[in-house]
Amino acid sequence: MENMWPPWRMEYVSTGGSQPKGCVFCNVVKDDDDKNHIVYRGKYCYVILNKFPYNNGHIMIVPFKHTNDLLELSHDEQAECNELINLSVKALRMIFNPQAINMGMNMGKAAGAGIQEHIHYHLLPRWDGDTNFMPVIAGVKVISESLDATHKKLQKAFKEILNKK
Ligand SMILES: [Zn+2]
Repeated sequence: MENMWPPWRMEYVSTGGSQPKGCVFCNVVKDDDDKNHIVYRGKYCYVILNKFPYNNGHIMIVPFKHTNDLLELSHDEQAECNELINLSVKALRMIFNPQAINMGMNMGKAAGAGIQEHIHYHLLPRWDGDTNFMPVIAGVKVISESLDATHKKLQKAFKEILNKK
């Protein structure tokens, strides 16, 4: 049971104050990358840290197109999503050296999507026993590394990987 696909209930949702209008995945790209922890922008998709990570290095790959259906993405959009997933796996391995990685998408509310109106892939580095030893306080896992630090490391790793190509 420990290795079950986590339910992603703590998905990317705004913290405190009033909920901003519109789609969070559409809104963040109009704003500052550092503030929103956007790691990388491609032509069709971007990579962003999860605000409420399940683990260190919990990232998401999001198409710029606002859609709730994977099949509405064009071939090029899907291709770039896949490319960014590959890049993200490389970057996560460089930085976190995880024993395993969960990846996938929850399409629709019944599948557990927290933000169902805009599809996104989750990538999550995993370690043996990580579901056990990390303390859970009020349903929020304590993450040992701050999002700012993780963001900087991932941005650097993406640059390094892309420069080697
Ligand atoms: Zn959207």
